Amino acid sequence: MNSESAIAPAACVLVTGGSRGLGLAFIDDLLHEGYRVATCSRSSTAELEARVATHGPGRLFTALCNIGDEAQEAGMFKDVLQWCGPAGLYGLVNNAGITGEGILATFPNVDSIRILEVNLIGALRLSRLGMRHMLAKNRPGRIVNISSIIGSRGYTGLAAYSASKAGLDGLTRALAREVGRRGITVNSLAPGYLDTEMSSTLAARQRQQIINRTPLGRLGTVADIVPVLRFLLSEGAGFVTGQTLIVDGGITT
Ligand code: NAP
Repeated sequence: MNSESAIAPAACVLVTGGSRGLGLAFIDDLLHEGYRVATCSRSSTAELEARVATHGPGRLFTALCNIGDEAQEAGMFKDVLQWCGPAGLYGLVNNAGITGEGILATFPNVDSIRILEVNLIGALRLSRLGMRHMLAKNRPGRIVNISSIIGSRGYTGLAAYSASKAGLDGLTRALAREVGRRGITVNSLAPGYLDTEMSSTLAARQRQQIINRTPLGRLGTVADIVPVLRFLLSEGAGFVTGQTLIVDGGITT
């Protein structure tokens, strides 16, 4: 672990949705930084299994869990705490997320509710579990919610997704006030449009339009976002809380 993130030897961080995309990139970086990392997703991937084989189950813990199902969230969280051991959980990164596209007038309610359950309600319940644990331990802690610029800007066809991310940013601000005095920081990290599986449904025309509107002239990559999470988890970010950090190549300026 480098000096900037020298919180404690092998501090334990839970990153939800780590089987691919941004979550997997977060895991790689946090392992490299010396953290012990736990993750969960509904299914595993060969890439994630390869990380377990490389780093060993003492450094990387994986669980199957359907976020949005309260009982599964609680069971997974309990297993993660057990794996963390006496040092407890230092960081929680609410990264798991889903999307679904269609104008609200015709978008099925059941799909909107599912998006809100996974992206917002699941993150809220895990934050509650995380902060109860951190408060009981009486040690500094970090909660980072992976939001999106869509939460503050909106996007045609993404009403439920936008509502879920705006909700996450509100959650961040309220929780930061609730637990700041106990040394726990809560922040949102809001990427712009990234080149991951989630954005693979964008039509070529939409992609080009986004690129044209981005001052830095390209879509983001996971490598653009990873260092910002590293910073938010680090000791150096101890006076940053209640913020939504936008990393979007300037498209929202
Ligand atoms: P992704 O490639 O689709 O990966 C999503 C991850 O979340 C996977 O590991 C997935 O695994 C897991 N997941 C989804 N639903 C879950 C559930 N109900 N329970 C547990 N795990 C679940 O997405 P990504 O692009 O890496 O996005 C990660 C985060 O960044 C999301 O919160 C997203 O909103 C945000 N973000 C992405 C972009 C972008 O352009 N990609 C931009 C801004 C913000 P399973 O499917 O196996 O469950």
